[in-house]
Amino acid sequence: MHQFHYVDGALHCEQVPLSSLAAEVGTPFYCYSHQTLTSHLSAFQKAFAPVDHLVCFSVKVNSNLAILSTLFGRGAGADIVSGGELYRALKAGADPKKIVYSGVGKREDEIRYALQAGILMFNVESPLEAVTINRVAEEVGEIAHISLRINPDVDPMTHPYISTGLKKNKFGIAIDRALVEYREARTLSSVRVVGVDCHIGSQITQLSPFVDALAKLKELVHTLRSEGFDIRYLDIGGGLGIPYSDETPPLPSEYGRAVIDAVGDLGCTLVTEPGRVIAGNAGVLVSRVLYTKEGEEKRFLICDAAMNDLVRPSLYGSFHDIRPLVQAPETITADLVGPICESTDFLAKDRRLADLQPGDLFAVMSAGAYGFIMGSNYNSRTRVPEVLVQGDRWWVVRKRETYEDLVRGETIPKELG
Ligand SMILES: *Cc1c(COP(=O)(O)O)cnc(C)c1O
Repeated sequence: MHQFHYVDGALHCEQVPLSSLAAEVGTPFYCYSHQTLTSHLSAFQKAFAPVDHLVCFSVKVNSNLAILSTLFGRGAGADIVSGGELYRALKAGADPKKIVYSGVGKREDEIRYALQAGILMFNVESPLEAVTINRVAEEVGEIAHISLRINPDVDPMTHPYISTGLKKNKFGIAIDRALVEYREARTLSSVRVVGVDCHIGSQITQLSPFVDALAKLKELVHTLRSEGFDIRYLDIGGGLGIPYSDETPPLPSEYGRAVIDAVGDLGCTLVTEPGRVIAGNAGVLVSRVLYTKEGEEKRFLICDAAMNDLVRPSLYGSFHDIRPLVQAPETITADLVGPICESTDFLAKDRRLADLQPGDLFAVMSAGAYGFIMGSNYNSRTRVPEVLVQGDRWWVVRKRETYEDLVRGETIPKELG
């Protein structure tokens, strides 16, 4: 469920017409619905309410401070993958004791920062990383709590670029190596092994990959306990999909029930790392048509948003629904493209669309996750503003960048001939 609806033919975010935001902040811009975000979070929290649990929002999905603060203020923790994300999470008021740190390439300075901040645990992705964490922990005089990220070798049946739990993926420790690596980790004096972690992929639209992975992890937890490991946390990662078009992913309640059925009796604190399912449908990208153009074989709508603003269509061939801000029937087939000098710069391809004319506004739906955050300045395009709506109120929670922002930090050496 989300809060982007037509009211008298005008697309609104909650009670605010998107066209009035466009008039105020210009296009393109991202717009987020506060109510959608918070209702998604609470649906997730409710799904796990029967057991001891911790919902850690995946910060990489959307790390605007206002978004993070909204979620942390309602009990969410954070799943981070870099020192920069830790900085953001702390700045937005995250409780360090609700922060888990994932990612295959943690640097020593990042590990030190996380230890000093007092995070809940590291999800360790390789044996060498455990050794490094141990060394840094020893240096700073802390005991690092860790889980090993286990690669259960299940097929999440999603796009190959976003599947992470197969043998061939770079993530985690192969499940048949797990026991050996757990025994190894136990020998490290500044590390305490507290949990088991996995994350098998993203935009997963069926329960079975989760259930298969959890069955394997459950067996591992039993084995570890029989060897005396005190496994208190089971982190099952994120990955629950959302409807971009006609997908019908399980609801958080169904997902929660399946997880609790599978592993609820282990007595572990269940940690989840949802990202897309919280923020994906809580945001849209609003853009304006600049030109229409009849190609030799195709019709093009050229708009002011581009792959640097929303890269998912170009990167993964992702589908995002396109809705005109003024409701209209879909009567044409066209490519909706941006101004960037790349043929992969499109938002929609061979799509049935409303017959939009230059000046007309539209929203790219489901852009709240992996949207703004994957943006860049390619073609020296300034990054667009982010607007947060709550009821009939709204705020610019990130300003549009200026040309000065584009060159900030650059210098031309005087000595340069
Ligand atoms: C990306 C990521 C997530 C979030 O995935 P979603 O599909 O957005 O829910 C959670 N955990 C880890 C380790 C990740 O890398």
